[in-house]
Amino acid sequence: MSITAKKPRPKKCRVESCRASFVPKASFQTWCSPDCGVVIARAKQEKQRKSFAQRERREIKVRKEKLKKRGDHMREAQQAFNAYIRARDQIAGHLCISSGKPLDWSGNAVDAGHYRSVGSAPHLRFDERNCHAQSKQDNRFLSGNAVDYRIGLTARIGLEAVEALEADQSVRKYTIDDLKAIKAEYRAKTRELKKGHAA
Ligand SMILES: [Zn+2]
Repeated sequence: MSITAKKPRPKKCRVESCRASFVPKASFQTWCSPDCGVVIARAKQEKQRKSFAQRERREIKVRKEKLKKRGDHMREAQQAFNAYIRARDQIAGHLCISSGKPLDWSGNAVDAGHYRSVGSAPHLRFDERNCHAQSKQDNRFLSGNAVDYRIGLTARIGLEAVEALEADQSVRKYTIDDLKAIKAEYRAKTRELKKGHAA
């Protein structure tokens, strides 16, 4: 008995709806006919597409997470900066930058209002010339009351500085480390200010 011409054993087609018995021409062949071969190739492609989409979704999630973290740092830095602005103007005894009315420091009625808004001029979000104690009324309900803000700001820092702010189109990029440093800097400045005032 010879074992030289080992005949390939018949297999069952891998395609679920077919399951026909066939004799493979090569060991990797799992389909009975070209038509079933196409079905299997398509299924494989679809599987790859799904796993790619899944990986992509995962990567987007990771990116979003990173973005969120940066946003958290941005928010914390802004809070520290704004707290400094309020402390600075409270200690100086300033009136509302736009309405010119006395500010009520007893509750939660004073904002640190940006002349050029954080939304339209994010590069000036940490610029001390651009941010002043302002009544919540003006900041939130009168959209910053820009016309009166400019008048108040001109009286406070001078026309030259106001015009410099208005012309400032510089681009500033903040890394997470930058934001951490800004937060630390303004917390220290606020502490210093309050200490000096209490003494
Ligand atoms: Zn088949």
